[in-house]
Amino acid sequence: MRALCWFRRDLRLEDNPAWARATGVGDEVAALYVLDPALFDRVSDRRRDLLLAHLAALDRTLGGRLTLLRGDPRAVVPRFVADHDIAHVTWNADVSAYAQDRDRVVTDALAVPVEPLWGTLVQPPGTVLTAKGGLSRVFTPFHRAWQRVPHEVWPTAGPATLVAIAGDPLPDPAREPAMTPGEDGAHERLDQWLDRVDAYVHDRDLPGRPGTSHLSADLRFGTISPRLVLDRVGDHTDGRAAFCRQLAWRDWYAHTTLARPDITERAMRPEYDAIEWRHDPVGVEAWQTGRTGFPIVDAGMRELLATGFMHNRVRMLVASFLVKDLLVDWRIGERFFRHHLLDGDVAQNAGNWQWVAGTGPDAAPYFRVFNPTTQSERFDPDGTYIRRWLPELEGLDRRSIHQPSRLGPLELAAAGVTLGQDYPEPIVDHGFARERTLAAYKAAKSAS
Ligand SMILES: Cc1cc2nc3c(=O)[nH]c(=O)nc-3n(C[C@H](O)[C@H](O)[C@H](O)COP(=O)(O)OP(=O)(O)OC[C@H]3O[C@@H](n4cnc5c(N)ncnc54)[C@H](O)[C@@H]3O)c2cc1C
Repeated sequence: MRALCWFRRDLRLEDNPAWARATGVGDEVAALYVLDPALFDRVSDRRRDLLLAHLAALDRTLGGRLTLLRGDPRAVVPRFVADHDIAHVTWNADVSAYAQDRDRVVTDALAVPVEPLWGTLVQPPGTVLTAKGGLSRVFTPFHRAWQRVPHEVWPTAGPATLVAIAGDPLPDPAREPAMTPGEDGAHERLDQWLDRVDAYVHDRDLPGRPGTSHLSADLRFGTISPRLVLDRVGDHTDGRAAFCRQLAWRDWYAHTTLARPDITERAMRPEYDAIEWRHDPVGVEAWQTGRTGFPIVDAGMRELLATGFMHNRVRMLVASFLVKDLLVDWRIGERFFRHHLLDGDVAQNAGNWQWVAGTGPDAAPYFRVFNPTTQSERFDPDGTYIRRWLPELEGLDRRSIHQPSRLGPLELAAAGVTLGQDYPEPIVDHGFARERTLAAYKAAKSAS
């Protein structure tokens, strides 16, 4: 019997339940990836190149027998199954509205058994529940329950023979990938992280230090299993336990998205869909290009544009700036991030944007408005991170780099900075913006 493993965001063989099942149930197995223009054409070149490099690595691991097809999977997968005598289909399930709809259509179109499994999360949806049997709307009880759920037994690949089925050529990437691709690259990154993880509890909020794992894109593309990461890290030090907690957030946002696939479109606290957001194309462009005049915000956006990554603390600050300082709809920022981030993931991105905007379950309360300058002083005290991404502010000392507009023209000139020329004046007054936002949120709440 010939089985099919349809790879999607699980680009590995180790601890991959769908691969294990396909190679266990069939005598022969086909490995398929569908390059879906609806997803592929909407992301940055950098992200496309990384995906192509991961696919090339997976193909190498499979001895050149990964079939790649271009097109809409809703048509491509049923045709492939019918044309190649496939009798069983498996994949690792996904949670976004697009993925849920696509998988429903493909399942309905297939006349053979389909077995979706969960290989992208530590705990599959439906396994971490409240006493009443539902998904917690609050993270802390979810986390407590999550820690208690035992892992499923790790699946290993079965003995099936891999068949070679011709497909479309893998497009050439435009440039070198942002990281060493594939499972080997992901394992190297995990190994390096294991040397640093114990400092996570102190360093994770300091963007100037290499204090976080940078494993998010591997988890996004599935070049490493989150269960394997959890297992290798363990929770026997404070740093390790804090790191594992982040993987629980990741599961929680995925479980939440499966239940509420409209998370990218609707505020999860519906009263906040009545907020009167500002139409501010000039402000949005300044934010997108890192030209707001708030150094920590601009450094974050320039990191994103230059690398496809941004430190978590800075993601919170730039998101807060867009939503609460500019009073711009969080959905605009969510889409921009999803396009540019190498780890861009519907559930994690929308879940975190709603957290920052105060519109999500268990979100930051709406009246908590980050002050970008004091946050910058606290989390980038020496300005190391700002200097890395805003070389034009290099000459400013550790006190003034967080808010150059506080300095007079002579002090600025001594540091080689002319505001409005080398670096913008702040595009908004934070105190004024804060009051404007609180009023807009209050009005939305009282209208509901
Ligand atoms: C506005 C905003 C948008 C975000 N968009 C995404 C996104 O599209 N994709 C994404 O993977 N993460 C997203 N995050 C979460 C977080 O910023 C990144 O996961 C993290 O910065 C990745 O760096 P790291 O791997 O070094 O993280 P580490 O600190 O080393 O964390 C380890 C892993 O835990 C998970 N994790 C960490 N923080 C969070 C979190 N807040 N929510 C959910 N999972 C988390 C990630 O998988 C991460 O790789 C977003 C956060 C914010 C505030």
